[in-house]
Amino acid sequence: MATISIKNITKSYGKTEVIHGVSLDVADGEFIVIVGPSGCGKSTLLRMVAGLERITGGTIEIGGRVVNDLEPRERDIAMVFQNYALYPHMSVFDNMAYGLKIANKSKDEIRERVGKAARMLQLEPYLERKPRALSGGQRQRVAMGRALVRDPAVFLFDEPLSNLDAKLRVQMRLEIKEMQRSVETTALYVTHDQVEAMTLADRLVVMNGGVAEQIDTPMAVYDRP
Ligand code: ADP
Ligand code: ADP
Repeated sequence: MATISIKNITKSYGKTEVIHGVSLDVADGEFIVIVGPSGCGKSTLLRMVAGLERITGGTIEIGGRVVNDLEPRERDIAMVFQNYALYPHMSVFDNMAYGLKIANKSKDEIRERVGKAARMLQLEPYLERKPRALSGGQRQRVAMGRALVRDPAVFLFDEPLSNLDAKLRVQMRLEIKEMQRSVETTALYVTHDQVEAMTLADRLVVMNGGVAEQIDTPMAVYDRP
């Protein structure tokens, strides 16, 4: 787990500012869902926390450390993408092991961590398969497994369920919540799905036009008359 402190973040592409000063303090182990219409800046905000986009102004701290100039792999985060972003030529095992290999973990440790994640995500029967031989839900589990094995302090999710059918989305939503509880990480989760937002979030960040319009519990955000 780690705290995240986002302080007056701005982002410009060329002369156009698309994030206009967003601040957010996330507690250890908190599950934050970022919602809002398409183009409001959800994904950009998340990608700045991940280190995939440069920050134009402000600071981001993870676990009390300013990460503005750190590479993604130096940030103690793992991200799950909408399109899964799996390596097509690698087996499920190798996809999940990749980040650990890069981090020079021993073979034994890699086998143990991948095995544990595969059990948790019910992927054990598929470890030798290539991604193309998996269903959408299984692919999304592999993407989650790849994040999970790295035991990150912070999980970042960018619309992870948008490509799944409705039934699978419900199931995976429960699995994500369960996973986040059992591994005790802090989570930032971007979605445009209100049901996902209500069921997953400890607190919601409602984005609109590049600002955080409201930061509050799902009850407070959705239960108003
Ligand atoms: P959301 O995730 O809420 O749909 P984004 O964060 O993807 O929104 O985009 C926020 C705004 O920034 C949009 O107006 C989008 O067009 C713009 N934007 C995103 N990426 C780029 C880019 N690489 N270059 C220029 N503008 C961008
Ligand atoms: P979109 O918002 O357009 O659906 P994604 O958020 O899924 O795109 O992915 C954003 C970009 O990040 C993509 O160009 C993808 O290639 C890249 N990407 C995917 N996986 C990783 C990764 N593990 N580390 C860094 N970048 C990645």
